[in-house]
Formats: sequence, structure tokens, C-alpha cells
Amino acid sequence: SDSVAKEPPMHIVHIAVEMAPIAKVGGLGDVVTSLSRAVQDLGHNVEVILPKYDCLNLSNVKDLHYQQSFMWGGTEIKVWFGKVEDLPVYFLEPQNGMFWVGCVYGKNDESRFGFFCHSALEFLLQKGSSPDIIHCHDWSSAPVAWLFKEQYALNGLGNGRVVFTIHNLEFGAHHIGKAMAHCDKATTVSDTYSKEVAGHGAIAPQFFKFHGIRNGIDPDIWDPYTDNFIPVHYTSENVLEGKSAAKRALQQKLGLQQTDTPIVGIISRLTVQKGIHLIKHAIYRTLERNGQVVLLGSAPDPRIQGDFTNLASQLHGEYHGRVKLCLTYDEPLSHLIYAGTDFILVPSIFEPCGLTQLIAMRYGSIPIVRKTGGLYDTVFDVDTDKDRAQAQGLEPNGFSFEGADISGVDYALDRAITTFYDARDWFNSLCKRVMDQDWSWNRPALDYMELYHSARKN
Ligand code: ADP
Repeated sequence: SDSVAKEPPMHIVHIAVEMAPIAKVGGLGDVVTSLSRAVQDLGHNVEVILPKYDCLNLSNVKDLHYQQSFMWGGTEIKVWFGKVEDLPVYFLEPQNGMFWVGCVYGKNDESRFGFFCHSALEFLLQKGSSPDIIHCHDWSSAPVAWLFKEQYALNGLGNGRVVFTIHNLEFGAHHIGKAMAHCDKATTVSDTYSKEVAGHGAIAPQFFKFHGIRNGIDPDIWDPYTDNFIPVHYTSENVLEGKSAAKRALQQKLGLQQTDTPIVGIISRLTVQKGIHLIKHAIYRTLERNGQVVLLGSAPDPRIQGDFTNLASQLHGEYHGRVKLCLTYDEPLSHLIYAGTDFILVPSIFEPCGLTQLIAMRYGSIPIVRKTGGLYDTVFDVDTDKDRAQAQGLEPNGFSFEGADISGVDYALDRAITTFYDARDWFNSLCKRVMDQDWSWNRPALDYMELYHSARKN
């Protein structure tokens, strides 16, 4: 198309341990896929290297086939190739079985992923590939940066430059510090988060090469007009029709009363980062105000999971037909919740970018968020952020609050619910408005291309 870049195509290889929808745990998986697709759509050659987990969702890999094998680290490594969402993906399968453990995370992760990073570079070298950019992500593929600079750049892959993206600084700070020191450029996933972490020991010395580029969502993967998991397809033109059909379907599926009350949705990993105490409070507050609540989430920590299991049975008894907690990971259900709820709550303590608020808006669900990190950069309060939105060329698009406490949540949640009850026409126009905002990769993909180019000038 006309929008395809006239510049010569760049060759970019992502080395990552998550990729949506075949091995997704959180936002990292979404970003690897959607950023790659956006850059590929600009006319560049993008490839992904991923471990071949036994738990891959293979139904979403096209034309998967065995390609070759090589010896490294005392084992045979089989290389498989296939297409995921139209992206070429190499799957590395060490025959020592280290990725045959039934999960992405949770078993000897440091040594498994260290091994993976090393073998990915070895694979590129042995294949005679010489990418312009090697893009690694978070602590899990951070070793790529220093292995590359200390070994592979001197050894045949010298043309490449390394870009390192921090999706979450909370994990593996020592790996992140090493990657920050060795990469050519580093990014994190929103401008505000880049400022929030500027003083961190791993970042501060390398701040000169550190940039905030906000994540986007893939508008084809998240599209209420083509979504197979919702009953009526819709755009901003028929958002009311589409959302009310989805609301009825959601209520029916989860055994909720079929009434036109406001529904607050929460779709989240249940960890301290996500504001567990605020989530719990918001559930009760919404019920007090005669709303309904749907929570879809799972906790990696069994204590937190158990805690929510208890809360679920208590709430399902006490507020029968008005609240449902689904304590699992369920991609199809997440689509129906984005479409069928009126609000999506994201009360994070910190949030590097956050994708749920962006997906919510794509489905015409109004975000209620805490003002932190990428939530601050993408959600503009209808009452207090008009000027800040306007400076971005946007109209306000949600409800937000500052403090990580109960009164903070109430401030935003109460105004949101009141708007639903008392200003329904205006609320409906807000649903239409957020759907028309562009939270895709259109802009950020160009920012990444600029960054890749500047890395190559090093
Ligand atoms: P994080 O990466 O910190 O988990 P993000 O907001 O960046 O948070 O990304 C979360 C992604 O995971 C979104 O695509 C969201 O829809 C999805 N998600 C989170 N929890 C679940 C769940 N229990 N079931 C289905 N999808 C989920």
C-alpha cells in the first residue's frame, strides 16, 4: 500500500520467551506479536525466535515444520519453523527437555532462559543470518544483550545492534542492569514509566540511551467488528447494539441477572502490582451501588489464588446473580468481558504501560484507572484532564484517581457509576468516542523505527 516505507527494509529479530496467542502470560506476549506485525506492515523483515514449549498453543501456528538441528550446550537443538499471526517464527527445542515442563514460567526459569538466549544467538550465527536489529525483552531475554556484545558481535554477527525493552522492571533487576549496560538502545513501554524508573540503579547510569515508547494494541486481533467471541459484531456506529447484545450474553453465560445495570469488569493477573486491595474494595463498592461485577483473573501466588477463591464463594453466595469471579486464564471470555461490560477497572499500584485499558477502549468500555505509568499516558479523566488530553489532540476518555487507597478508587468509581445512571446519553457518546481513538501501533511503530535507525548509527 501507499503507507509502506520507501526506505530499504530492515531485518529485525525478536528473541523472546512469550508470544501471543501461542505462549502468552501477560502484556509482553501481546507486544512481541503486535509490535512485530506493525513493523512488518511498514515493509520490514521481522522474525521471532521462541522456545518450543510443550505447552504451546499449536492450533495458532500455521505450517509448522521441522527445519534443521544443531548441537550446542551439550545437547541437540531442533529448530522448527512456522507462522504465527503472519509472522515467521523459529522455535528452538533443546532435546534435553528443558522446555518440556508444561509451563512458560515457574521451573528453573533463569537457567532455562539463559540457555535459550545463548542458543538463539548460536542459531543465528550458524544459519549465517545477520540481522540489523536484535530486539530482546525483559530479564528473560536480557542475556542476549551482553552475550551478543561480549561474544557474538566479535564472532560473525557484528553488523547487528541490540535493542532492549523493559516491560516490567519489577523482575530480575540484575539481568536488566547487565542488558542496559550492553544494549545500543533501551526502551520501556510508556513515557511516564520511563520517568518513574529513571532513578533506578539499573537505569540511571544508562539513562542517555533510554526511551519511553508506549505500547499499542493490534487492531486486527482486538476488533469488535470481526471478533468471533462476541454475539454481535460492532463498530462505533452501532456500539450500543453490539454492547447490549454482549452484555446479555455475558450475563447469561455467568449467571448474572439480565438487568441494565452498570457492569464493572476486571481482567488481570492478580498480583500486588495490580492493586489487589483496591480491586476488592471496588467490587464491594460497585455492588453497594447496585452495579454488577465480573472479574477474570488468576494469581501466580497460590496464597493469593486461595484468598480469591474464598472471596468468590462468599460473594457468589451473598450477592448471588450480581457478581462473578472467574479465577482462571480464559482468552475467549476476556473478549466477551471487554465487549459486555460498561467499565474496565485498572487500579494498579504501578503499571509500565497496561494493555487492558487500551483493549477496553477498542471495545467501547470505559476505563477507570489509577494515574500511574502508561495508565496516566493513555487515560484522561473526563472531569480533570481536559487540558492534558487536548495537548495530545484527544478528548477525555475515562475516569482516574491518584492515591492508592480506598478514597481514591471511590472518587473515580462513584463518578463513573453516577454517569451511567444519571447521564446515560452522554455516557453512550463517551463509549462511541473511546472506540474512535487510535491506540494501535500506528504511531509507536514509527517511533520504534526511528529508534532502530538511531541504534544503527552507533
Ligand atoms: P501485564 O502484562 O502486567 O499482565 P497488561 O495490561 O500489559 O498487564 O497485559 C495484560 C494482558 O493479559 C491483556 O491482554 C489482558 O486481556 C490479558 N489477561 C490478563 N489476565 C487474563 C485472564 N485471566 N484471562 C485472559 N486474559 C488475561
